Amino acid sequence: MVQGDIYLDHLLKEYHMFEQERDRLVNQLHTEGYLHTDAVIQAFRDVPREVFVPEALKTYAYVDTPLDIGNGQTISAPHMVAIMCEALDLHKGQRILEVGTGSGYHAAIVAHIVGNTGMVYTIERFQTLAATAKQNLEQIHCSNVVVEVGDGSCGLPAHQSYDRIYVTCAAPRIPQPLIDQLQDPGKLLVPVGDMYCDLTLLTKEHQKQTIRNLGGCVFVPLVGKHGHDR
Ligand code: SAM
Repeated sequence: MVQGDIYLDHLLKEYHMFEQERDRLVNQLHTEGYLHTDAVIQAFRDVPREVFVPEALKTYAYVDTPLDIGNGQTISAPHMVAIMCEALDLHKGQRILEVGTGSGYHAAIVAHIVGNTGMVYTIERFQTLAATAKQNLEQIHCSNVVVEVGDGSCGLPAHQSYDRIYVTCAAPRIPQPLIDQLQDPGKLLVPVGDMYCDLTLLTKEHQKQTIRNLGGCVFVPLVGKHGHDR
């Protein structure tokens, strides 16, 4: 084998290894009860998490844990992405707002579920993370995600309103701008608290709002005007 062939052979082996690992994780999340809807399961099968994980941590891409992505932030654990996708009751064609782009992985999963007739707008406060997320999304040819930089605690009024909004960091309370930018009917999912928080689902329907606590979780803080100070 010449040098180029050896490299190609290595890439191919790595690709198959990640594919097997992804399959194993999807089966694990399904058995544990985190994944149950066909469209969500298919998204987890098709979106390669290793692309969204920094080079040095790629071997851990299919361990069900958050991983460091720089700037003191993390890519969420796969089971948390699964819980949030299932709770949001996502459908093809929906317009989505994500607050907290991070690596772009969660946005890629949601974009796969809403399909090409849907759209995901995602906002990140760190320019560097947003730039890497854009590259990651381009690498997997994901064309229905728009990444913006700014304070997502104020939502993203330029593209309102949204069928679904979800926040991937802990807010002291549900930010009012997010409620205002949500369609009726619509669903808004926010971890409420300070690191240790309650995953909180607000449903808007016929001009009424209901709030349900889906259980405890751990997230990095939402920092901004309607978030924490630090
Ligand atoms: N969804 C991400 C993924 O798939 O990798 C994980 C997100 S990480 C747990 C939370 C993200 O929220 C961090 O990248 C953090 O910088 C971001 N964040 C915190 N406060 C924010 C704000 N006010 N506006 C936008 N992003 C914010």
